Amino acid sequence: MIYLDNAATTKTAPEVVEAMLPFFSEYYGNASSIYTLGAASKKALNQARRTLADCLGAKPEEIYFTAGGSEADNWALKAAAEAYKEKGKHIVTTRIEHHAVLHTCEYLEKQGYEVTYVGVDEKGIVKLEELEAAIRPDTILISVMYANNEVGTLQPIREIGEMARQRGILFHTDAVQAFGQLPIQVDELHIDMLSASAHKMNGPKGVGCLYIRSGLKLRSFIHGGAQERSRRAGTENVPAIVGFSKAVERAVRVMPEKIRKETELRDYLIHQIYGKVPYCRLNGDPQRRLPGNVNFSFAFIEGESLLIMLDMKGICASSGSACTSGALDPSHVLLAMGLSHELSHGSLRLTLSEENTREEMDTVAESIAEIVGRLRAMSPLYEDFVKSEGKIGAGKDIGKKEP
Ligand SMILES: *Cc1c(COP(=O)(O)O)cnc(C)c1O
Repeated sequence: MIYLDNAATTKTAPEVVEAMLPFFSEYYGNASSIYTLGAASKKALNQARRTLADCLGAKPEEIYFTAGGSEADNWALKAAAEAYKEKGKHIVTTRIEHHAVLHTCEYLEKQGYEVTYVGVDEKGIVKLEELEAAIRPDTILISVMYANNEVGTLQPIREIGEMARQRGILFHTDAVQAFGQLPIQVDELHIDMLSASAHKMNGPKGVGCLYIRSGLKLRSFIHGGAQERSRRAGTENVPAIVGFSKAVERAVRVMPEKIRKETELRDYLIHQIYGKVPYCRLNGDPQRRLPGNVNFSFAFIEGESLLIMLDMKGICASSGSACTSGALDPSHVLLAMGLSHELSHGSLRLTLSEENTREEMDTVAESIAEIVGRLRAMSPLYEDFVKSEGKIGAGKDIGKKEP
C-alpha cells in the first residue's frame, strides 16, 4: 500500500501511542480529583498545555483543548460573533476555507450576521486588496486559513494579521493543515485565535485545541463543569491530550528534516507527473505550498474514477470533489481559483509524509499515467479534442500536449 492522503489524516506515531497507553489503564484518575491518582492526570494535562503553548509562542492559559479542528473552528467563530455583536455583525472570510469554517459562517448568516467571502487568485492565494476592501466599520472578525487543505497554498497570514490588528478586528486562523508542519508564532503573526488538530500531525483523532489570546472575553463553548477554565466543560480526554502533546514534541523535533524530505519528494512527484501525463496542470502555487501537497487536474478525467483505479493498485489518494448526498460536487476551492467545472471534477490530491520514498513516487506517477491513458481512451470527448488538435473541450485551459 502507498499512503498519500496525509491531509485527510495521518498515522499515529508509535511514540505517541506509547505515551498515551499508561493514561488508559494506569493513570486513569479524573484530573479534577483530590487524590494522588488524579494528580498524575492533572500534571500530564499541565505539561501538555505548556508544550502546545511553547510551540506557538503562547501562554499555557491561552490553550483550550477541544475534540478536534472542527470544534475549534466552530467555537472561535460562534463565540467571537456573539461577544462582539454590539460592535457589529459583519465577518470576513474566504471562499476556500474548510467546511468547518464555511458551514459555521452559513449558520451565522441565518442568525443575522453578514459574511463576505473574499476571493483568491488562480494560485489559490487570498487577494489582499479584496480583503482590505471588504472590511467595514461593523466588521468584527476576519477568519483566513493558514494553509489550504486541498491545494496546499500558504496564505499571507502576517499581512492579514497586521491589517486586522491596525483596525482593531479579531483575527482567527484555521491552522489545522499547517500546525506541526511549519513553525507558527502567534505574536509575530498577530493571530488572536488559532485552530489546530492532532490527527493531521501524527497524533490521535478527536483532539485538538483553540488558542485564544488572553484578554479576549469569549463565551464558553460547552457548559457544565469548570474544566478548561470553565470555557469547555467535560472530563478532560487525558490520553488523547497526552498523545497530542507528544505529537507536538515530535513534530518540533523532526520539522526541519520532514520539510526538507517532503519538499524534495513533492517536487520530484510533480516533475514525474508532468513528464508522463499530457494535458494536466498543477493546482496551487508551485512554491508557496505545504511541503507534502501535490494537486493535479487531468483534462477529461473524473477524479472519482481515477481514485477507484488507484485504490485497486493499493494507492490511497483523494480528490477535491466532496461526495454529498450522492451527488458529486466539484471542489469549491478549485472553482474559486477559476478552474472550469470539468477540471474541478478531475482533480487528484496526493499528500505525502516523510515516510514516502522516491520509488513510491515513480510507481504513483506511472500508475496515474496508465490509468489516465486508459480512461481517456474510453472518452468520446477526448477523441474529439485530439481530432480538433486541442481547439475544443476541457483541455483548452490546460498544460501541454506532449509529456
Ligand atoms: C481536517 C481539517 C479540519 C477539521 O479537523 P478535525 O480535527 O478533523 O475536526 C479543519 N480545517 C482544516 C483546514 C482541516 O484540514
